[in-house]
Amino acid sequence: MSNIPACPQCAMENTYPDGANYVCADCGYEWPMVEAAGAEEGEGAVVKDANGNVLADGDSVVLIKDLKVKGTSITLKVGTKVKSIRLAGGDHEVDCKMDAGSFMLKACFLRKV
Ligand SMILES: [Zn+2]
Repeated sequence: MSNIPACPQCAMENTYPDGANYVCADCGYEWPMVEAAGAEEGEGAVVKDANGNVLADGDSVVLIKDLKVKGTSITLKVGTKVKSIRLAGGDHEVDCKMDAGSFMLKACFLRKV
């Protein structure tokens, strides 16, 4: 019944509750349960594009600026269309599969089409 979320720091699932906090056994990160509960899917998990339109799984979007992919020489060009996005949690909340690979992008750099 209790569904312990993966660690927001290292994404490992080796986590356990400790008092009012969750603790990650892998990296030692601790975070409050209250916040984790609010991050569940459903209300409060709305992701909006650059224009404030709500994004959903399966939407198509275009990039509104060039984005350099960290740790690679890849630059995703402005105007690149991404079909069938998938929403994820965290700072980079949109999972985009495109020809160059699969990338986690920030919704604020995307526009729904
Ligand atoms: Zn961790």
